Amino acid sequence: MKASIHRPTRIEVDLSAISHNLQQVKSHLPSKTQVFAVVKANAYGHGSSVVARSLLEEVDGFCVSNVDEALELRQAGVTKDILVLGVVPVGALDLALAENIIVTVASREWLEIVDKDLLKGLRLHIKVDTGMGRIGFRDSRLINEVLADLRLHKAQVEGIFTHFATADQVDETQFQTQLAAFKQILTELDDIPSLVHASNSATSIWHADTVFNMVRLGNVLYGLNPSGRALSLPYTIRPALSLVSELVQTKQLEIGATIGYGATYTSSGEEYIGTVPIGYADGLIRRMQDFHVLVDGHICPIVGRVSMDQITIRMPKPYPLGTRVTLIGQEGSATISAQDWADYLGTINYEVACLLSDRIPRFYR
Ligand SMILES: *Cc1c(COP(=O)(O)O)cnc(C)c1O
Repeated sequence: MKASIHRPTRIEVDLSAISHNLQQVKSHLPSKTQVFAVVKANAYGHGSSVVARSLLEEVDGFCVSNVDEALELRQAGVTKDILVLGVVPVGALDLALAENIIVTVASREWLEIVDKDLLKGLRLHIKVDTGMGRIGFRDSRLINEVLADLRLHKAQVEGIFTHFATADQVDETQFQTQLAAFKQILTELDDIPSLVHASNSATSIWHADTVFNMVRLGNVLYGLNPSGRALSLPYTIRPALSLVSELVQTKQLEIGATIGYGATYTSSGEEYIGTVPIGYADGLIRRMQDFHVLVDGHICPIVGRVSMDQITIRMPKPYPLGTRVTLIGQEGSATISAQDWADYLGTINYEVACLLSDRIPRFYR
């Protein structure tokens, strides 16, 4: 879908905030730690090509979830290392090889169906499942066999990694179990690949002492707290994304007027109602009804149903067409964060950022 640029709804991404956040995390990690920026899912809705290009000088590489996301970066001129974190369909390996994309090996079954000719020169990281139960090897004997096989076929095994399920939680039990399992597996390997990594944002922030020699930073780069509100951050980060629009109509409704599909809202007085061109097709889902936006520093409730393309808000007084409406971001002394949306929806800030659809154009400063 093409972004709708002839509409005042837009995402503003502050690239200097992303850089600031990266430097904050980096300055609290051992200085030789390699940093890969995770820009999967369109950089958590922030726009992967622009975000990646803006970080070129500050990171060692990028992580994405699939080959198409990697190709998008290559087409945008990103020549740095790109690691695909998910399982690459064997039919796409020729593309990975041609575009110098690093691939994750997560099972022997996968290796068995790979065209062995494609392994020569292919750059790989081994995924270890220490307790997520998703992808990865669970025992060292198997990894040793696979490593031997990969080397036989002249693949370049450059890294080994795992992923924590609970690094963003107060209770560290599961984290410590997974950490011990990973360390144990490393000691049992005949030969350890040069890059060893286990840290997502949460691990890099709250377990900065347990990085191996590389980290994979996603959420925190965008200025979000990976734990939601469970753990406080040891340093300040700045949210990079604002979601703004403008009033396209303001009207004064009489008492008893209804608003929106289902006529679920009835005005209880003479109310000033503003219409804003954003709806569930943009990721402002219907459950956002009764949440709020900011107009002129005032908190204005979303009244009536959220439509596909429009919402209606109740304002304290009439405002002219074109008045800025802030849906996520700061306006005067008031702020609405992605975390506020997440709290309201009963989800996590990651999901809020990813829900913002491609219909909304991204602008950068
Ligand atoms: C998405 C992902 C990350 C980044 O996680 P954040 O919490 O956003 O930092 C790191 N590693 C893997 C394997 C991932 O899938």
